[in-house]
Amino acid sequence: MAKINPNFKKLPQNYLFSEIKKKKQEYLKKHPKAEIYDLSIGDTTQPIVPSVIEGLKRGVEKLAKRKTYTGYGQTEGNIKLRKAISKFYQKRGVKISPSEIFISDGAKTDCANISSLFSPKSKIAICDPVYPVYRDANLFWGKKIIYLPATKENSFLPKVPKQKVDLIFLCSPNNPTGAVMTKSHLRDFIKYAIENKAIIIFDAAYSEFIQDKNLPKSIYQIEGAKKCAIEIQSFSKSAGFTGVRLGWTIVPNELETEDVFEKGKINSLWQKRQSIMFNGASNISQEGGLAVLSSKGQRETKKQIKYYLENAKIIKDGLRSLKLEVFGGENSPYLWVKCPKNLTSWQFFKELLEKANVICVPGEGFGKYGKNYVRFSAFALREKIKKAIRNIRENL
Ligand SMILES: *Cc1c(COP(=O)(O)O)cnc(C)c1O
Repeated sequence: MAKINPNFKKLPQNYLFSEIKKKKQEYLKKHPKAEIYDLSIGDTTQPIVPSVIEGLKRGVEKLAKRKTYTGYGQTEGNIKLRKAISKFYQKRGVKISPSEIFISDGAKTDCANISSLFSPKSKIAICDPVYPVYRDANLFWGKKIIYLPATKENSFLPKVPKQKVDLIFLCSPNNPTGAVMTKSHLRDFIKYAIENKAIIIFDAAYSEFIQDKNLPKSIYQIEGAKKCAIEIQSFSKSAGFTGVRLGWTIVPNELETEDVFEKGKINSLWQKRQSIMFNGASNISQEGGLAVLSSKGQRETKKQIKYYLENAKIIKDGLRSLKLEVFGGENSPYLWVKCPKNLTSWQFFKELLEKANVICVPGEGFGKYGKNYVRFSAFALREKIKKAIRNIRENL
C-alpha cells in the first residue's frame, strides 16, 4: 500500500509568497487604481548583459550544426566551464581543482539535496531567520534541526552551536538579513566544524555583491575550510540567471567526515550521487556561464550588481531618514528593517501596503526571530524604488 512521505506534515502550512500575493490582490480589489511598488522580490529584474547573451547564443548555434552539436554532457559539467570557475577562485587566492567542481542547474537544487550525502540521522544547524529551502528540505528529509538565532545583539551573525551538530548551513551575504560574515566569524565556524567533525554547507549565492575587500567571498579564503566545507554557488543573482538556471557546488578532495577521511572519497560519493539523480546542466546555460566568467562578462555583470547596490543604498537612506532601524543593504541586495512601534512583521507589512502601497516580506516567514522585521529587496527598477521610498516618506 502506497503511503505518502510523512515528513510533508512537518512542513510549514502557509506559503509565504502566496500569502503576500493574496494580500496584494485583496488590496487591489478594494483599490483598483492603486499603483503597487513591489520591493519583496528575491528575483533579478535587469536584462542579461550583452556579452553573456552572445555566449548563450553561441550555445544555441552550436546545436544547429552536426559538427558542434552535443547531447548529454558530463554530469559534473563542461570541463571548460569548470576550468574557468577554477580560475575565478584563483583570482581570489583560492586553489580549487576542476575535479572539485560540480556544475548544477542552480544553487537551490544542491542546497536542498546536499544532506543526502550524509547519514539520515545527521543533526542539522540552520540560522533563524533563514532561507526557507534549508529548513524545508531538511524537514522533508526527516532531519533533526536546531536553530541558531541571528539577532540584532549578534549583528545577525549567529554564534557556533553550543551542542554537537553534524551539518551547519551558512549563507553569506545573507538572505534575508543582508548580514555578511567576517573572516573571524567564519574562522569560529571552521574551528567548531573541525573539532566536532561537522560539515559546513556554505551558500555563497550573493558573493558578488561584496564590495568590501576585507569580507570573504568564498569560505575557502579561510584556512582549514577545505577539510570541513562544501560551497554552493549560483549564476542566478550575479548574472541574472534565475530563469536560465546554472550554478556549481564544490566538494573539496580534502573533505573529511567522522567515518571517511580518504582523500577524494567524499568528492567521488557526490559524483556517484549526481550520476544517479542528475543528468547535467543545460549545455546552452553552460555556454552562458563561460561568458559570465570571461573578462568582458565580469566587467558587465559587475556594473549590473552596482546598479542593484545603488538601489539598496536609496532604500537604506530613505528608510533611515524616517528613523527606521535598517540593517544589511551594503555588500548585499537585501535590507532587514526593524518594525517600528513594536509592530509584528505582518502588521508592518499591512501598514506599508495600505499607507504607502509598498510590498515587502514579513520577517516571520523566515523564522520566529524575524517576527519584528521585514525584508526589502533591491532587485527592482530604480524608478519604482524611488517612488516607493517617496510614498513611504510621505504617508507612513
Ligand atoms: C536565490 C538564492 C539562491 C539561488 O538559487 P538558484 O537555484 O541558483 O536560482 C541560493 N541561495 C539563496 C540563499 C538564494 O537566495
